[in-house]
Amino acid sequence: MPLLLVAVLLATTSAAAGASTRLVHVQVQPGPVVAVRLDFSAPVTPIVRSLPASDGMPERIYLDLPATTLGEETPRITSGAGALLRVRTGQFDAGTARVVLDLSLQQPYVVRTAAHSLTIELTDPTPMPMPTPALAPPPRPPEAPPARTQEVRRALVVVDAGHGGRDPGATGIDGVVEKTVTLALAKLLAERLPARLPVDVLLTRRDDAYVPIDERVAFATDATLFISLHANASLDPRTRGIEVFFGGGGPAQVASTGDPPQRFGLAIIDALTARLADSRTLVRPGGYGVLARNSVPSVLLEIGYLTNAEDAARIRDAAYQALVTEAVVDAVDAFLNERVES
Ligand SMILES: [Zn+2]
Repeated sequence: MPLLLVAVLLATTSAAAGASTRLVHVQVQPGPVVAVRLDFSAPVTPIVRSLPASDGMPERIYLDLPATTLGEETPRITSGAGALLRVRTGQFDAGTARVVLDLSLQQPYVVRTAAHSLTIELTDPTPMPMPTPALAPPPRPPEAPPARTQEVRRALVVVDAGHGGRDPGATGIDGVVEKTVTLALAKLLAERLPARLPVDVLLTRRDDAYVPIDERVAFATDATLFISLHANASLDPRTRGIEVFFGGGGPAQVASTGDPPQRFGLAIIDALTARLADSRTLVRPGGYGVLARNSVPSVLLEIGYLTNAEDAARIRDAAYQALVTEAVVDAVDAFLNERVES
């Protein structure tokens, strides 16, 4: 009996501490039944939950995989099909990998487990026309089924709260820290963008976490726009004002109407000028990692100088934060509509 207990304990602790199982492959199977297949180096028992759309995030299904880590080669974002917008993977904590299925609308699903794989099938909510007397659905009302227009792929905007965790960014007057300011503004944007526009939003961080630049950029793989939020600092306390940098997009996306990153940068300047007449703004290509390595039109917005008394005060003012947020939403709106027309 004592021997058996020891054996059980050893098995449990080695699985938890060693995190020996790797998630090696993510595959989206487009149809007729959309499914996501995950391959592992060893069998895994997932914890599966679904969450309704909220707080700027779409409808989603979460799988937490205990004692599992992501492989080097595991994609962080995989494009979806049908009602599946995309599949995201991440290391939730040292021992738990998390897989998130973002959905354009609520979907019933089944999880099938095999020896070294796991498949999540999104079962179509429309009843099959096949007559099965015993399981026949109740008679439907005569009206046509609801139009499934929501399945149209919506624009995806990645909102990046600059810095975080062990990287505080700039420190300003009264100890105000950049990473805190950028997170507050990112959360406001995540709320206001989908409230005003038909867009989905992904936040690169939702708390005081350190997220490496490559992971931030990976969020944009499937995105339409990338917005990185920052606050500035200067040795000269008189230096103040908003600055906008643009980048990303890649040479292939340069259109005759002007290059998309620049157009997005200018749209932000226009919107900020319209909402905050006094702001000093600049726009120029930025050499920052999140811009240079980004594949989609990207802006880096420095919302003011934390080292300037006036800027530091207004950056912490809720009314000012709301104005900046609405201006960025105006700019996304202008950019997306202009693009549809061209
Ligand atoms: Zn910064």
